[in-house]
Amino acid sequence: MSEENYMRIIDLRGRKLSRAEMLEAMPRAEMGTNEASELVIPILENVKQHGAAALRDYEEQFDHIHVENLRVPVEAIQAAVDELDPEVREAIEESVRRARAVAASQVPEDFYTDLGDGARVAEKWIPIQRVGLYVPGGKAVYPSSVIMNVVPAQAAGVESLAIATPPSKATNDGLPDKTILATCAILGVDEVYAVGGAQAVAMFAYGARGTEPQDGEILCEPVDKITGPGNIFVATAKGLVSGIVGIDAVAGPTEIAIIADDTANPGWVAADLIGQAEHDELAGSVLITSSERLADAVQQELDARVPRTEHAERVETSLRGRQSGIILTDDLAQSIDAANAYAAEHLEVQTEDPDAVIARIRNAGAIFRGNYSPVPLGDYMSGSNHVLPTSGTARFASGLGVHTFMKPVEIIEYDEPGLKEIAARINAFAVSEDLPAHGESVLSRFIDDPYDKETI
Ligand code: NAD
Repeated sequence: MSEENYMRIIDLRGRKLSRAEMLEAMPRAEMGTNEASELVIPILENVKQHGAAALRDYEEQFDHIHVENLRVPVEAIQAAVDELDPEVREAIEESVRRARAVAASQVPEDFYTDLGDGARVAEKWIPIQRVGLYVPGGKAVYPSSVIMNVVPAQAAGVESLAIATPPSKATNDGLPDKTILATCAILGVDEVYAVGGAQAVAMFAYGARGTEPQDGEILCEPVDKITGPGNIFVATAKGLVSGIVGIDAVAGPTEIAIIADDTANPGWVAADLIGQAEHDELAGSVLITSSERLADAVQQELDARVPRTEHAERVETSLRGRQSGIILTDDLAQSIDAANAYAAEHLEVQTEDPDAVIARIRNAGAIFRGNYSPVPLGDYMSGSNHVLPTSGTARFASGLGVHTFMKPVEIIEYDEPGLKEIAARINAFAVSEDLPAHGESVLSRFIDDPYDKETI
């Protein structure tokens, strides 16, 4: 392989790596969250204090657009769907249909467990009441992200749903991108704000009052949870307000890992790596293989394909970045170990027996099985969700789904015989923790004087 190759080689062959060494060897971008925090904290504070006035100022400062109507008029949302290209409308509707079918089967069922006579614990899933969905709109526009956020929220039964997305630079009319607005209309969402970045996260977390600080009118009510991807400012702001509101995840730059063997088509592997790199200069594209022959062939395909793709410059920066690379392994088992350590947001498996590989995958945001399930299918139309855990967080987190918009609450249902049976044991526990009033609370129901230790 020549020096000129687009992707660097990370050679794990013949190396026995500890868990820490394996994690260290994985290609990853540095996240500049500390610097971003310094910028974002005053934005959060200012929006909290000054509401709409601060939101307008930040839109002028960062997006260079004057937004007269921070809340998009309903007529503008409806007009966008009327003007939508019929082909794009069909694509959106197909995507919604598939996402709704998957979401419907994700709705968790309430259940209960019987623990004896008169002793039962139930579990009830309750939708989150009000959710703020962030839809990115800086470098590219993502109507697909509207679908990925709104469909599971609606299937969960969320009562109140608001969307924030930056005003469009292309139209410069103070309104968000028209395809985003049309997608909102198709999904029946009419609370949309032309606000982007950290200021949108602040608006959702704290709510925002009308046009002037002294104005009592409410522009946006605070939400209970904020979901949706975004750039470093959005991600940092979500991290900072987490705890005041719920968040889905602090998403970092997007990434793909492909486990492939000699049976994979190098042109398709290269095309999938390029497709991911197109998102962002910081996007990570990683090939994991024990086949040097395939690695060589993929590099050749990249040579042929990268210069011909529209965003060649961005793709090249991303593929040459420290977050991308080809991981060469001894065998499929080591490839699987590497994939589990990398914990990719998107993991493609292009091997002779993908099911045998998938059976041993522990960590991935979503798994794309075989040669005909590439990541862009999941980005737009597979029915699965494309808001997925990045930066290795797939080790402990999952992608967006109906469960993201619900919370399980246990209902404790004991009657007299059920409680009586274990009253003395509860008391023993309470006494051992030096919390005797806990025991007395239970015993009060069965004896006259629970405070007289002689009678117990
Ligand atoms: P964005 O909407 O996240 O951010 C744009 C906003 O950032 C602007 O409105 C502006 O207010 C703010 N901003 C810009 N420069 C600023 C500065 N210097 N200081 C403070 N605020 C500033 O759009 P984007 O920038 O295009 O980023 C979108 C990100 O979302 C990309 O990284 C993309 O890969 C990611 N994404 C992820 C998924 C996923 O599912 N993980 C899906 C779609 C997009």
